[in-house]
Amino acid sequence: MKRVAIVGGGIAGLSAASELARTHTDSAPCAFKLFEAAPRLGGIVATERRAGFVIECGPDSWVSEKPAARTLAVELGLADALIGSNDLWRKTYLAEGRTLTPLPDGMRMMVPSNWAALLASPLLSWQAKLAYLREPKMAAALQASALENAGNTHDESVRDFVRRHFGAEAADAFAAPLLAGVFGGDIRHLSARAVLPIFIHLEREHGSLILGLQARLRTAANNSAPASASIFTSLRDGLGTLIERMEQRIPAASLRRNCRVQAIEREGQQWRVQTETHDAEIFDAVILAVPAHVAASLLAPFDAEIPTLLPQQASSAIVVALAFSAASAASMRIPRGFGFLVPQRQSATGHPDSQAALAQRALLACTFVDQKFPHRAPPGAILLRAFFGGPHAPALLGESDTTLSTLALQSLGTLLGKLPEPEFAIVRRWPQSLPLYAVGHLQRMEQLQERVARLPGLHLIGNAYHGVGLPDLIAAGQATARTAIGAACAQSSTANPPATRTRP
Ligand SMILES: Cc1cc2nc3c(=O)[nH]c(=O)nc-3n(C[C@H](O)[C@H](O)[C@H](O)COP(=O)(O)OP(=O)(O)OC[C@H]3O[C@@H](n4cnc5c(N)ncnc54)[C@H](O)[C@@H]3O)c2cc1C
Repeated sequence: MKRVAIVGGGIAGLSAASELARTHTDSAPCAFKLFEAAPRLGGIVATERRAGFVIECGPDSWVSEKPAARTLAVELGLADALIGSNDLWRKTYLAEGRTLTPLPDGMRMMVPSNWAALLASPLLSWQAKLAYLREPKMAAALQASALENAGNTHDESVRDFVRRHFGAEAADAFAAPLLAGVFGGDIRHLSARAVLPIFIHLEREHGSLILGLQARLRTAANNSAPASASIFTSLRDGLGTLIERMEQRIPAASLRRNCRVQAIEREGQQWRVQTETHDAEIFDAVILAVPAHVAASLLAPFDAEIPTLLPQQASSAIVVALAFSAASAASMRIPRGFGFLVPQRQSATGHPDSQAALAQRALLACTFVDQKFPHRAPPGAILLRAFFGGPHAPALLGESDTTLSTLALQSLGTLLGKLPEPEFAIVRRWPQSLPLYAVGHLQRMEQLQERVARLPGLHLIGNAYHGVGLPDLIAAGQATARTAIGAACAQSSTANPPATRTRP
């Protein structure tokens, strides 16, 4: 029988384990074990339910156009629990000083599809608007250089990519705040190829991103793509439901919680997995689904080059959810929309002289949760979710929950008006959770793949490699599980029978 170890029970590792559990049959037996250091599965995906509120402490949804998460949810019997974002109220604001100004309608990140809204927006100077008007006229030159680079390893920063099309002001006004909370990094260092693949594709096809987007929207309209589909999808009782359902699929004997893997070692054609708490075990394949810094330390003994190819930085996030009862909410004036973003240029410089100033600079975004999704708060109640990150967040990680919720209340209050005391607050810290895909990331991933291929039976998945969003991680987990079992199958016909070893 083939034996597969999965190290890390976040969405990536859990998707791999759930896939192995699904495909396991008597005629195709596979023994797998999922090792998770924490007491619970799900990693960054974590839902709390309290007093009628559904509080997402990590991701709150997935991008609807990527099918893997929806397909998995349906397969797990959650079709009736799928919910879409309230797109009728889809408006995102940018914080400028103490004011919230809506992003122009029709923006796909930094690319406009509605000229009137863009030109009327007070967020851009007239010079920046002129740069937008010029972009379609540069289509031929932009396409020529994109095609020249298509066949090589050329990469550039997101800021440089956006600046070539629309100028620096658009890069700082739109791309920077939209990406800050997703890839955990400064757009001056983020890889355009890794982070903006759709726009890289549009540039090759059309030169101009504006013309490319228009063509895409026309094709979608001609294909009568469902206009009603919401941009984000979630689950009525929170994404934790997906974790719970996957966990139910996994036999108890295949699950090791509170079980940190300390080392993996090569043993002939097989792998020896050493944990803090149990005897070492031998497997035909190992799927590492841990954050980059953990993968680096587990893999360094085999190949000192591998850690240098992994993302070198990951930023930390703190999520503070503030739940307001209907009685308190009556006095609050929250604008209609999904929430606001705080441009990093406001928060990047100088040394903050107080905790409040530090929190103000670390505040990257706030979600108006009860408006973005239905069923997240009792009728009339309000749920706000502050997201702290960027270079100032690490200094806040050591603060108590009480201090962080007070700081969140104050920071949000400067933009939303003085807020009443919440009914309760929930704080979650996610250290080193948002890997930075630095310029050259895709090339390093190819080199990494070559080196990993020299270690048969080893597989790497998770948000450090080919995408940070839930659908990508689910798809990668499932595909890797199938590959691992196939490869393990081929190997185990020649390898020694698996055995459990005792720790030295
Ligand atoms: C605040 C926040 C909000 C986000 N919002 C969204 C969103 O709305 N939509 C979206 O698509 N994405 C979102 N993301 C991104 C997404 O949540 C993550 O990329 C994804 O959850 C990462 O999954 P993972 O399995 O790669 O890693 P993780 O969730 O980090 O899981 C890794 C697991 O490995 C375990 N582990 C570590 N070391 C060991 C060891 N030695 N032995 C055993 N186990 C170990 C950890 O305990 C953990 O459970 C968000 C991220 C953050 C931080």
